[in-house]
Amino acid sequence: MAGPVGICALCLQKRRLRDSHLFPAAILRLLRDSEFTNPNPYIMSLDYVGQSSAQAKQYLLCHDCEQQFNRNGEKWVSVNCYHAQRKTFQLGELIELAQPILSGTQGAAYDASRIPEIAIDKLVYFGASVVWRASLKPWRVQKEVYSPIDVAPKYQEALRLFLLGSAPFPQNAASIVYLISSAVPPSVVVFPESLDEASARITCRFYIPGLWFFLLLGDDITSADRSMCILRSPCHPICLYVGADALPWQVSYSLYMNKREL
Ligand SMILES: [Zn+2]
Repeated sequence: MAGPVGICALCLQKRRLRDSHLFPAAILRLLRDSEFTNPNPYIMSLDYVGQSSAQAKQYLLCHDCEQQFNRNGEKWVSVNCYHAQRKTFQLGELIELAQPILSGTQGAAYDASRIPEIAIDKLVYFGASVVWRASLKPWRVQKEVYSPIDVAPKYQEALRLFLLGSAPFPQNAASIVYLISSAVPPSVVVFPESLDEASARITCRFYIPGLWFFLLLGDDITSADRSMCILRSPCHPICLYVGADALPWQVSYSLYMNKREL
């Protein structure tokens, strides 16, 4: 079905718009229950937990820009994240074979640039593209409406130019990737959210099966933040973190308790 003609949010050209997803359809398909007892993607955020076949999508991008998102990040990430049906996690397997640059009881860090199969540029692009989309407009899943996450206009524009291919990854940004360390990562997505911070820095995060993406933006990002950036840190860290495993379930539990209190 042809969409309406409008201004594409990425290239700003007047084009026929596609019904664009927030999360790639290929990732939402991974959330379906292999036994088909629950065929619906499971989507959650701090405001909502539930099952829904109504995916977050709206007329946003033209065909060419959707293809660019697919080529530059979505395709690679959806192949390499955790696949519950096949019980495979390609990115996790690559890291298992590598020598950590740091390790301890809480996890380990690996130099992604020393693992040639890891496409650092695609992880960075994908993380930025989901956060950027979530910052533009509200997204609706059935009756739930998620407000746009809080990204200042100048960072939104810097991300747009990066995603369009017209500018490098913004200087005042850090892209951080955590892998779930357990054998069976939660097969859910966590909607993008921005965490409140007192400083002139925001932390945006979201989860897809096996992977947490964090995007830090602001003039106040510290050298410690920058040292964690998979793109610009000299050791290009990709981290296994024990705490990352519990986080989707903690979010889910607090949502459940909140719903009960209503
Ligand atoms: Zn476009």
